[in-house]
Amino acid sequence: MLAACFLGPYGENDTLLEKLVVEFLRDHVHWRRNFHPEDPPAIPTSAAQHPQYQAFEARMRRELHQLSAALKQSVPFHSPRYIGHMASDLLLPGLAAQILTLPYNPNNVSEDAAPITVQLEVQVGLQLARMLGFVSDPSRPDCALGHLTSGGTLANYQALRLALALKAFPVAMLAAGVPDIDLPGDVSQAFNLAPSSAIELLERWRHWLSRQNKPDHQHWRTRVNAQRIEHLGMVSFFARHRDLRPPCVLAPITAHYSWSKGLKLIGLGREQLRLLPVNGMRLDPAALQEALERCECDGQPVLMTVAVLGSTEYGTIDPIDEVVVARERSSKHGLGFSVHVDAAWGGYLATLFRQRDGGLRPLQEIQQEYRDFPRPEVHAAFSALSQVDSVTIDPHKLGYLPYGTGAFICRDHRAVELLSEHADYVFREGGPDDYMTRYRQLGQFVPEGSKSGAAAAAVYVTHRVLPLDHAHFGLMPRQTVLAAEAFLVRAQRFAEEMATTIKACVPFHPDSNLVCLALNPSGNDDIARANSFVRNLHDQLRCDPQQPLQIKQFFASITTLQRTMIGDVEMHRILENLGVDPATMTDDTDADRLVILRHTLMNPYLLDHENGISYIDHYFDYLTLHLRQSTWLQHAE
Ligand SMILES: *Cc1c(COP(=O)(O)O)cnc(C)c1O
Repeated sequence: MLAACFLGPYGENDTLLEKLVVEFLRDHVHWRRNFHPEDPPAIPTSAAQHPQYQAFEARMRRELHQLSAALKQSVPFHSPRYIGHMASDLLLPGLAAQILTLPYNPNNVSEDAAPITVQLEVQVGLQLARMLGFVSDPSRPDCALGHLTSGGTLANYQALRLALALKAFPVAMLAAGVPDIDLPGDVSQAFNLAPSSAIELLERWRHWLSRQNKPDHQHWRTRVNAQRIEHLGMVSFFARHRDLRPPCVLAPITAHYSWSKGLKLIGLGREQLRLLPVNGMRLDPAALQEALERCECDGQPVLMTVAVLGSTEYGTIDPIDEVVVARERSSKHGLGFSVHVDAAWGGYLATLFRQRDGGLRPLQEIQQEYRDFPRPEVHAAFSALSQVDSVTIDPHKLGYLPYGTGAFICRDHRAVELLSEHADYVFREGGPDDYMTRYRQLGQFVPEGSKSGAAAAAVYVTHRVLPLDHAHFGLMPRQTVLAAEAFLVRAQRFAEEMATTIKACVPFHPDSNLVCLALNPSGNDDIARANSFVRNLHDQLRCDPQQPLQIKQFFASITTLQRTMIGDVEMHRILENLGVDPATMTDDTDADRLVILRHTLMNPYLLDHENGISYIDHYFDYLTLHLRQSTWLQHAE
């Protein structure tokens, strides 16, 4: 099945893609012609003979040729020699669906501009919800909702928006003095409700409102809206409620920088982002517990706790199960907050844990397919996904789809009403049609306005061709995990074979398909020298627009390990493995951190069974040869 999934490193499936593109382009043209076949062509058939037409075509061709030529310097994401950043080949169903849809140019802001693709987008949300273990049946009142965004950054921002709306809503109810509804005792309790209780309150309010006569309905709606944070803004809201502090967001120090952007964007400020220490690059549950207890003591509300499923730099997976436990425990102590999982990178790994029928696969069953994936902690993290409040997933990363597709999924769609631009509270009774009817006006609820319908079509078709379970879509992440395991084994051999020349180690056990490699020339104990050595090596492993692409053998990326991030114990362990003296760490730039190589192993052809080639072996062979010849090392000796 994998053979037909991609255009392929060699462009093996060119005829297939070409056939699809031509077929559906013709199909599109027929559609145009058959709209009103009685309308004659507006562009004369003789136009193509006109000198100006020809001049235009010539100009267009020249520019396109120039573009095409320039693009030859692009990063060769498709190649198994590319193990740098989070990009690889594109899935054919998605690519074909996107190209097919582009000339129709649907705008997923609403069904008026996208009668078909906006529905597909809502369906994509349900497909992803099912993969996560959320309720994905729209006839259920607590069904999940997902939608696409331009990327993970915007999806994370949407999570913040939703969590804040839900947190501040009970305060508005209290401030408006809504009668008959059982409200929290005071503003502080209202602001610290658990998200599930806030949704219940929202439901009671809806129900109450639906029983009011028209003038009362109008009156109370206006009154509550006037107290909402979305109406007042942060400044007035907190000025009105002097007992409340602006809430903070807890996230592991490995969190993506989009969280910093998000806090700035939402107006809470970067200072409200509290970064928690990690253990082996995974959120430390004890540190989380400690932070929550401090918040509880200080009367510091918490908006959300972020757990990362596949950290951008190290691919590590946070103990989501422990974060869910912490949410329940804190909620009992009157400190409610939502749990968001940033699975922009690792989201699609969830397919490995799903049966065809949507059930969770047992740990032992999965482990049979791998050397040691998944560790029990990783399985526990994926099992707990169904209990979190919202999730970010990037189809344009491990979904192998073109850029411009992130996704936000929340477990219970009822909260999303709070984001609506027209909070008209026209609530119909539940039912599948109503769910679809409401969310066909997608622009009401999402940060963007106009948005690509073609992108939604691409994701939808991909998920239909490759359902999100281990037997279908899971084939791809499976290759990536197998590649990571092969990488780990080969890295260990490399370290042994090279010991006299270079000290090498994988700094922490990979949870999935991202593997780092720390290197230091043997005999060197200075961290700054080790770093400049790795930076130098990386110069050979990255794109350089000044040089022809073909002279590059492989592509990898780099990242750093900061002492403040991983703690002294871990740092010393890694430095010791490398023979670097921790005392050489200073506050100077490049001496306060360790530079390491980072490898994203997502190309499905890293282990090429057809030709019996392992690009992972090739990569280490290349490193071996390069390092043995390295003048840098000879100088060092
Ligand atoms: C990539 C990534 C993001 C940001 O996603 P974009 O699609 O680049 O906006 C956020 N979080 C994590 C964990 C990521 O890996």
